[in-house]
Amino acid sequence: MKNILVTGGAGYIGSHCCKALKLAGYNPITYDNLSTGWAKSVKYGPLERGDLRDRARLDEVFARWEPKAVMHFAALSQVGEAVKNPGKYWRDNITSSLTLIEAAIHAKCFDFIFSSTCATYGDQDGVLLAEDSPQTPINAYGSSKRAIEDMLRDFGNAYGLRSVIFRYFNVAGADPDAECGEFHDPETHLIPIILEVASGERSALTVFGEDYPTPDGTCIRDFVHVSDLVDAHILGLKWLEAGKGNRIFCLGSGKGFSVREVIERARRLTNRPIPVEIGPRRRGDAAKLVLGSARAAVELGWTPKRSSLELMISDAWLAYSSLEWPVANAE
Ligand code: UDP
Repeated sequence: MKNILVTGGAGYIGSHCCKALKLAGYNPITYDNLSTGWAKSVKYGPLERGDLRDRARLDEVFARWEPKAVMHFAALSQVGEAVKNPGKYWRDNITSSLTLIEAAIHAKCFDFIFSSTCATYGDQDGVLLAEDSPQTPINAYGSSKRAIEDMLRDFGNAYGLRSVIFRYFNVAGADPDAECGEFHDPETHLIPIILEVASGERSALTVFGEDYPTPDGTCIRDFVHVSDLVDAHILGLKWLEAGKGNRIFCLGSGKGFSVREVIERARRLTNRPIPVEIGPRRRGDAAKLVLGSARAAVELGWTPKRSSLELMISDAWLAYSSLEWPVANAE
C-alpha cells in the first residue's frame, strides 16, 4: 500500500481526503499540528503530529513513511483574518509550504498535490473563472497561495518536483456516510452556520449585505461537494502516477447560488425556520464568483456527482446531526 503524506489531514477537507485515499487503496499519513484540526478526525491512517515549519520533524516523518506523494491542505485560510493580519498569513503559509517542499525534495518525494484557491483571482465579479484567468489577489490569503503556486513551478524547474494544483472555493457538504464532517472553531462559513441556526445552536444567521448587483441582492457563490473535491485529488494522484505533471485545474460547478437561495433550500430540507438578520456587507466579498472545470473534466475525467445544492446541504445536515463534536485535542 502506497503511503501518501496528507498535511492538514485532521481538518475538514483533509479528513475527507484521507477516507477517499483509504478507499482507493492508499495509506494516508496525516501530518497536522492540530491548531485547527482534530485528532479524532484522523480515522483512516496514522497521525503524525507536527508543525510544517519544523524541518527536523518533517524529515523524521518522510524517513519513517517514505511517502510516494504529498497532498498539501494545511494552511491558514480565513479571509477576514488575512485582511486584518497579513503578516501572519505571509509568514505562516509561505514558511510552511517552503519547508514542506524542501523536505519532500530532500526525501526524493517528487509528486505534490496542492490545495490552492480562487482567492488567487481576486475580485472578478461575474466572470466564469478558469485556469488562465488573470490572478490579481486582494488579500494575504490569496497572495500567499499564489506565491506557493509560483514556488511549486520554480522547484519543479530546478529539481523535477511534479505538481498538480487545484483551485477551488466554497467547499460544502460532508461524507454521505456521515463518518467525517466539518468542525471549524470558530465557524465562519455559510452552510455550517445555517445548520447551526437550524439546530437551534445559534439564534439567527446574519446575511452580509443584500444590496449587491445580483437578482436577489445577496452574493452568489459556486459550491462544490467535498466528496467531489476529494475525488479530484485521487484523480490528480493518478495523473502524477501516470508520469504527467505540472498542471493547474479549477474545480467548480460553473453555476452559482445566492445566499438567499441557499437559506431557502436549507429551510425546505431541514424543515426548520432558520431566522435571518440583514447585516452590512462583509469586507472583501465579491458579488458573484463562479468557477468552471472544463479542463478537469477533459483531462482528469472529473465529473462532480454530489455537487447539487440539495445533496450538499442534506449531507452536511446528516453529518451535523449525527456526528459528535470531536472535543479538544489531548496534549
Ligand atoms: N455569508 C453570510 N453570512 C454568514 C457567512 C457567510 O451572509 O454568516 C455569505 C458571505 O458574505 C458570502 C457567502 O455567504 O457571500 C459565502 O461565504 P463563506 O464565508 O461561506 O465563503 P467564501 O465565499 O468567503 O469563501
